[in-house]
Amino acid sequence: MHTDHVKMLYDISELNNLFTESISIESFLQKIVQMVAGHVNADVCSIYLYNESDKELVLKATVGLKSDSVNRVKLKLGEGLVGLSLLNRIPVCEKCAEENPNFKFYPGINEEFFKSFLAVPIVRGNIRIGVMVVQRSEGKEFAEQDILALRATASQLASMIENIKYIMSPGQKVYESEEETNPEDLKFIKGRAGSAGYAYSNVVISNKDESSDFTQYLNTEEHYTIKQFDAALKTTEIQMENLQEKVEEKLEDAASLIFSAHLLMLKDTSFTGSMRKLIEKGEEPLKAILRIYYDYRDIFRNSPSLLIREKVQDVEDITKRIINNLMQKDADVAGYSGRIAVVRDILPSELLAMSAENIKGAILVSGGVTSHVSILARSLGIPLVIADKPELLKLSSDTKVLIDADLGNIYVNPAEDIVESFERKKKDKGKIYSHELLSSPSRTSDGKRIYVMANLNLLSDLKNIRQINNDGIGLYRTEFPFIIRNNFPSEEEQFFIYGKLVSDMGDKPVTFRTLDIGGDKILSYYRIDKEENPFLGMRSIRFSLSHREIFKQQIRAILRAGYEYRIKLMFPMISSIDEFLLAKELVHECIAELGKEGFEHNSSPETGIMVEIPSIVNIIEAMAEEADFFSIGTNDLIQYTLAVDRTNEKVADLYIPHHPAILKSLKRITDAGIKSGIDVSICGDMASDVRYIPFLIGIGISVLSVDSGYLPKVKSVISKLSFKEAETFANELLSKNRISEIDEVIKSHNTRLYGSELFAE
Ligand code: PEP
Ligand code: MG
Repeated sequence: MHTDHVKMLYDISELNNLFTESISIESFLQKIVQMVAGHVNADVCSIYLYNESDKELVLKATVGLKSDSVNRVKLKLGEGLVGLSLLNRIPVCEKCAEENPNFKFYPGINEEFFKSFLAVPIVRGNIRIGVMVVQRSEGKEFAEQDILALRATASQLASMIENIKYIMSPGQKVYESEEETNPEDLKFIKGRAGSAGYAYSNVVISNKDESSDFTQYLNTEEHYTIKQFDAALKTTEIQMENLQEKVEEKLEDAASLIFSAHLLMLKDTSFTGSMRKLIEKGEEPLKAILRIYYDYRDIFRNSPSLLIREKVQDVEDITKRIINNLMQKDADVAGYSGRIAVVRDILPSELLAMSAENIKGAILVSGGVTSHVSILARSLGIPLVIADKPELLKLSSDTKVLIDADLGNIYVNPAEDIVESFERKKKDKGKIYSHELLSSPSRTSDGKRIYVMANLNLLSDLKNIRQINNDGIGLYRTEFPFIIRNNFPSEEEQFFIYGKLVSDMGDKPVTFRTLDIGGDKILSYYRIDKEENPFLGMRSIRFSLSHREIFKQQIRAILRAGYEYRIKLMFPMISSIDEFLLAKELVHECIAELGKEGFEHNSSPETGIMVEIPSIVNIIEAMAEEADFFSIGTNDLIQYTLAVDRTNEKVADLYIPHHPAILKSLKRITDAGIKSGIDVSICGDMASDVRYIPFLIGIGISVLSVDSGYLPKVKSVISKLSFKEAETFANELLSKNRISEIDEVIKSHNTRLYGSELFAE
């Protein structure tokens, strides 16, 4: 790819600038076509948006064609080269467009001057969004490189353009009145620890089932001018742009416009523009803002598309911000800064947005400890408690809450002495592990080497592991860059992120777990059809194998980044040997393609599987003959073996890692690996649980991969453990068939092994 093309893809700041400089959505689209035309050296660049209900493409922005063709040129799906490109979801590239029998001549738009033609579809998964077209005069035909670059640009812009599409055609309007909510008096709640830490602050409620109460503003005596309204919009815009910048600074792998929907709404002539029109007609600014807000809220809420329904939160959030800025209230009242969020049904990208706003902590009223929102919270350093108490969503914003996310406790409006004792505890907490422990390879007290690797979710986790001796990355959850973004990262973007990771790890191995989406890892921008049982549905490797293009892009990016580095490719949720071989076949296909295309790449990565589905445990000995390594994903293995949803707080008591069926499965998997001479590691949460480490080591596991924050604790536990004693302990546990008996043995053994102090950690 030409360097200029690559620059076009990476230059997210350029996209940001386009946003900043645009005064409306139309002008934003216009700036995109200008930018693309400039980068690919085209005389014409146009964007057509597709309307699914009448199956029609409409020209929405162009440089090069006559400007009055915008909104005038319309094509049916499959009609002309543009319609054909979208129908078949493939680029159409022609030296001379007119010579293609499908070409459709549109008189009066000046197209006849530009013969070289390239159209690429803008799609997201199976959703058709539109088409981007570039044209040049005769003789200057488009090359393979241009197609690659334009496709990557289209995929980069897809989510933003999709947002634009629905904001531009808002649909039906319905009015509805707001409901009152009453805070309930709660004192102490015992929840579960999702992400360790402590926080004390006012709450901010985020409940998708209920809207904020804005009715107070309808009766206000305050009067504002149109000038103040405009100033409030400007301030809001600046705040959103600052937030966006903060995300990008903090998280390199999220270099995507997290707040794009907010920014788009601010620039939208039918949203803020309609507010302005009402004010011009004499409506009070506050009332004008709210009238349009209610319209939009209801349109979005009543949309058949889940994707659009989820944007209700964005509309509400942006409205709060505009009102606060108009009333010159504390700018953060609408936001999360310094507060503890009480949330229901939060998406990882939403948690990320809260983190950009410096949220202090979070309480989840649904979800489980091993849910991926908890895992992300750990990476982001946000203390999080999970409590099945929807009443918490009724707390008013002046309620102060203290969360002890080490133990999972919530104190509502705590007494002063409770707060003081926590502040003291926080100061004392910086428990110091010895330099020797942190800087040397891990061994048990009787000398057995145990490899301690890190689980990585975001590149920002790297800073936690640089100072601590470790044996590489045992699990990189590659889906995190996917789920925190607004669109599928292109191959180039993935190559960029993976490249940073491997170069940071140097000669240590990095295990790339391929995309594991579905279940509770939903891509906000890509909806698979609604599933009754998403954890048993189109999740993980099943998604990858049925979306080969997305899968291959990822494998290619990993292989390219892994050139001259030690990389391991690991497939999640493998349920049969056949499935593993299919995935491996694709790896070989990618290696062959990259070779042909002349890309430097790693042509002999190790390939292995996550052992997390019971079906594979029953054929594990045969699997060990095929895979280069096993990594046991206990989080899912427990969920699937015991039929207990890992994200459902209501059945959390049944999620028992030391269930005899789990312990015996772990033993069988480890034995199979040892017998075939392949590495077996544990990368689920059991690997960092003090209660279970002796058992794991006792059955012969020599590689533990844990969330980066747990590295010191795990190294410390290992150093205090005798392998011999661990073996005896493991054998004793394996001889029991009742959970209660196992419970007892674990308690008495662990207290003896570590002493009460370490065990209490
Ligand atoms: C697991 O299932 O144990 C695992 C490590 O993967 P994840 O938690 O991402 O599903
Ligand atoms: Mg898993």
